[in-house]
Amino acid sequence: MILAQPDAIEAQLAALRFDNRFADELPADPEQANFRRQVAGACYSLVKPTPAKRPKLIGWSPEVATLLDLPADPGDGDSLAEVFGGNRLLPGMLPVATCYGGHQFGHWAGQLGDGRAINLGEIVNTRGERWTLQLKGAGPTPYSRTADGLAVLRSSLREFLCSESMFHLGVPTTRALSLVLTGEEVVRDILYDGHPAPEPGAVVCRVAPSFTRFGHFEILAARHDVELMRQLLDFTIATDFPHIGDADQKTRYLEWFDEVTARTADMIAHWMRVGFVHGVMNTDNMSVLGLTIDYGPYGWLEDYDPDWTPNTTDASTRRYRFGQQPAVAQWNLLQLANAIYPLIGEADPLNDVLGGFAKRYAEAARSMTAAKLGLVRFIPEHDEALAAELFALLGAVETDMTLFFRNLAKVDLDNPASEPLEEAYYQPAQRNAAYRERLAAWLSDYGRRVQLDGCPNEVRVARMNAVNPRFVLRNYLAQLAIDKAEAGDHSMVGELLAVLRDPYADQPGQETFAGKRPDWARHRPGCSMLSCSS
Ligand code: AMP
Ligand code: MG
Repeated sequence: MILAQPDAIEAQLAALRFDNRFADELPADPEQANFRRQVAGACYSLVKPTPAKRPKLIGWSPEVATLLDLPADPGDGDSLAEVFGGNRLLPGMLPVATCYGGHQFGHWAGQLGDGRAINLGEIVNTRGERWTLQLKGAGPTPYSRTADGLAVLRSSLREFLCSESMFHLGVPTTRALSLVLTGEEVVRDILYDGHPAPEPGAVVCRVAPSFTRFGHFEILAARHDVELMRQLLDFTIATDFPHIGDADQKTRYLEWFDEVTARTADMIAHWMRVGFVHGVMNTDNMSVLGLTIDYGPYGWLEDYDPDWTPNTTDASTRRYRFGQQPAVAQWNLLQLANAIYPLIGEADPLNDVLGGFAKRYAEAARSMTAAKLGLVRFIPEHDEALAAELFALLGAVETDMTLFFRNLAKVDLDNPASEPLEEAYYQPAQRNAAYRERLAAWLSDYGRRVQLDGCPNEVRVARMNAVNPRFVLRNYLAQLAIDKAEAGDHSMVGELLAVLRDPYADQPGQETFAGKRPDWARHRPGCSMLSCSS
């Protein structure tokens, strides 16, 4: 018998198997009432999502659904909206909010925790993989401090699309299964300038092997709860890093820290490759798995500017600007090292691992640069200077980073001319004679360097097109989708998701999604300027 769609979905929901190891193996807060508090001696608190008034599914990732053994096609979405909007708990789910702390903008901020995130449980899929489901924006928890536990459509839509876009770009990231409107309004003061206004509320269901952050360890260190920190670290290694052998404790912990460092370095190199600026790299927003996590006031570089940050809340110091991300990652790792120091008892080995970050990052960045240029490998004596001059050129006039690299593959190196690059310039008049001469000189140097590799042109082009995306979630595209969705038309969510699922393909007919930022978006809030208000 063929089941009708809704019944088939119900059957798939009923077949999900939950095994909530985080909650089962780590200590719970004994208090079960939902009020704001400091939670000591526990890793999480039990808390139920707040039901949404009229949940409506407006975004669904078929790939994440498949990971979870859920239908790629959500049908009318009604029962999925009930579950992933927080209204209905499935058998086996055990909703919890976890306790973490963090350094925000360089300062210790004490307990933060899942103030608007609620883990529903850990699914073990038919392939034996384990995925934690987490609702973001499903109401207050003991960690909500002075805020409401909710999220608005604009920030949720950005998180939903960007997580999936990053995944398809090959950047390590948490995933997003669904985007659900709650049917309720949430008041936000977008620019923090005394103009609060109601906005549609929404909930995203995020998915990751785990959501453990640097801050989960930092809060326990700050509270001198060394034994619980040891328990959390043993748990983390057993569940998220099972390949780490069973040498003595200190060796295992150092091996773990070394792997967190390596994964973080690789993640940042990917951000730099695709032009992603996280915007709020506080230690509570750093995953120990090296996944990009917490999509807030992030942005994509349009014109190449290492000093750019989308986050207006960080405008004065630009701590989290594009070019500073590797250094901030290392600083964050230092905070993690400080946290776990009591488990190691020696500073030198931790310092050695930290010292390795710069080397690991530099190596990753060099390979990435070589790949972006279609070179077989990075040869320092040639490529150091070649890359330096290229990035200087990109910064010299307003140049779209994504278009420049994508179109560089189209330049005929036997007869270099800059025509294919023209599309990448925001202000063509800036390209004076001196710039043109410099670019021409660089193109011939580049051509000679490619010749040295002796690869056929198609190989160079294929190599470049595999790492230089044509489609990224440009800030203005997300804003267009938000404008439409806020007006009741959710079609652009699916349209963008479809394009962003294949970011390295040319996708003829989808040119409008590859275009550089239009002038109207240059200074528009939501496009080039974002605040933490979400
Ligand atoms: P973020 O800057 O988004 O990483 O958030 C920092 C901390 O503030 C985390 O503990 C969040 O859970 C909490 N938080 C952010 N927004 C809200 C909100 N609307 N309600 C409750 N907690 C929030
Ligand atoms: Mg956060």
